[in-house]
Amino acid sequence: MVHHKDMASACIFCEIAAGSNGSPALFEWQDCVAFLDHRPLFPGHCLLIPRTHVETLTDLPEEQVGPLFVRARLLCRAVEQAMQAEGTFLAVNNRVSQSVPHLHIHVVPRRKKDGLRGFFWPRLKYRDEEELETVRLAVRDALEKAGALGIN
Ligand code: AMP
Repeated sequence: MVHHKDMASACIFCEIAAGSNGSPALFEWQDCVAFLDHRPLFPGHCLLIPRTHVETLTDLPEEQVGPLFVRARLLCRAVEQAMQAEGTFLAVNNRVSQSVPHLHIHVVPRRKKDGLRGFFWPRLKYRDEEELETVRLAVRDALEKAGALGIN
């Protein structure tokens, strides 16, 4: 089932998907739409959205995850070719740093030494093996619980 936000709580990305926003889509599929980010990190920076209005990747129905990523892969190839990029960077902000609350995958063309620094987050070290093991088990436990509940 495809959900659209109602008009009372208009979503800018739903509007783009519906073609009612004025900015033309780059490519439209039955289930998702790609368009150029209007403030790109580099020319060719695209956004891929499901037509279904969900806020985060966790909210996307499981059967739509595969098709969305197949489109993301296609978009990577197309962006690399069209922009003569050496590679691409994919990103999804889930709530934190997410400025538009409609799931979107950023596909950004990349070149070596392109100066993109925003994604070089400062890295930590685990305090010791014990801390690493505690974290590893906590995440594994959450995964097992999710599996037990039938959430893949
Ligand atoms: P995020 O910060 O991960 O939520 O990314 C949202 C992205 O949407 C930003 O990179 C914006 O530049 C982009 N954006 C917001 N509104 C529009 C719009 N009307 N058309 C194209 N891109 C947009």
